[in-house]
Formats: sequence, C-alpha cells, structure tokens
Amino acid sequence: MIRTSRNRIAMLSPLREFFADLLFPRSCIGCGKRDTYLCDACLYGSPWKREHSCPFCESVLTPDGRTCFSCAPRHSLDGIFSASVFREATVVADAVHVLKYEYVPELAFPLGALLAKATAKTELPIADMIVPVPLHPWRLRFRGFNQSALLAESFAAAFMPDMPIPVRSDLLVRHRFTLPQARSHGAKERKANLKGAFSLPSDSRPFRKELKGKTIWLIDDVATTGATLEECAKVLKKSGVRHVFGIVVAR
Ligand SMILES: [Zn+2]
Ligand SMILES: [Zn+2]
Repeated sequence: MIRTSRNRIAMLSPLREFFADLLFPRSCIGCGKRDTYLCDACLYGSPWKREHSCPFCESVLTPDGRTCFSCAPRHSLDGIFSASVFREATVVADAVHVLKYEYVPELAFPLGALLAKATAKTELPIADMIVPVPLHPWRLRFRGFNQSALLAESFAAAFMPDMPIPVRSDLLVRHRFTLPQARSHGAKERKANLKGAFSLPSDSRPFRKELKGKTIWLIDDVATTGATLEECAKVLKKSGVRHVFGIVVAR
C-alpha cells in the first residue's frame, strides 16, 4: 500500500519523486535495507532453480528446461528456462508480486539482471531477438507499464552489455483481455482462455522475412502452466521462427 502510494506519486514528476522519497522511503523487500527496493545480498542470496524439466509433461528432466522429445511434436515452445522456483525463492517471488501488483517498475531492473546471470549459465542457443510477452492495452493502461517489457530491457542490457540482443516489443500483439492466469482454474480452461489471444501486427509482411529461421527468447515474469508462452510461440513459429524458448524469473 505504501509502495503503491509512493509509486503513484513517483510517476508524476522528478520533484514529486523527491517528495515521495521523503514520505515513503525505499527499503529492500527482503531485509529492509534503505535506499533500494531489492539489495544484491537478498537478490543473489535467493535459491536458484537447480533441476529443470520438460515444461509440458514435467516428468522428464531436461537441460535448461527444454521440451522433451515426446512432447516436442505437439508443441511450439522449445522449452522454458526459469531462474528460480516460485515456491522456494521467497524474496524473488515477493519481488515479482510487488513489481506487478504494487506497481514498482524499478524492481524489473534487479530481476532482469538476475535472469541474465542465470541464463548466461545455460546452453540455450543465443537468441537473435528478445520478445516480451505483451499485455492487453487495457491492462497496460491500468498498470502503466508492462513488467515483461521492462524485464526484457533490463535482461538484454545485463546479458550482453557490449552488444545487447535487440528487444522487440513490436512483434506480438495481445487481442483478448484474458483473466489473470492465477484466477482461471484448470489447464483446459487456461488454454481456452488464451486461444487466439496473440498475433503478429495486422500488417505483418515486413516481419515475416525478418523472422524466418530466427531464434527468439520470450521473456515473462512467471510461468504457471506455460500456456501463455506456448500461445506466443505458436504465432512466432507459424511466422517462420525456428526456435522459441521461454525465459522467466520464476516458475
Ligand atoms: Zn536486502
Ligand atoms: Zn515432455
């Protein structure tokens, strides 16, 4: 609540931000340390996900969370790599929640950096482009920012600072205003809820040539069933993309 008030004020102007700092001083959500929303000790002290499995059957351990051989023919997504486990990594899970629901966009920077550090240890094929999962325009207007887009920018800047992989927020459009995944129960319902929710922009001709044979990393904050990432991957693969991997902070 305090953070929300602070942030609502902070969106207005630097002068108001100065007063917001006075009224609602920042503190680390993990340890309470002043002048930061998330200190390095809490961020990097959070447990990382050690074992990765196929995102669809979840019964086969696979390197970096790749889709297993038996699930691959029925799915578009080549895997989901997650930096941490949603249930275990309490500070990271809290940070994702505060970023999204208490409107603290600043948290995307440490979380994006953490994600970059974790992804650098994988053997995933390097992406030609990084694509954040888009928000529906209504939700974007309500929240004021797309947390996945901020994460993608911060991720790209930290992953290869000298030659950042381009972040393409213009490739996917979200049409359907879907219920938050956490509130729509059951895998079947989630899938139906998302059907046709994404596409390329209406005039997609310039993109199709550009996408052919490319590898894309789709960035999102969390993946529950992976249905959102799979829907995005479906659209991208139909447009000629060769590999699509989901990369998320927590799963
Ligand atoms: Zn801390
Ligand atoms: Zn599988």
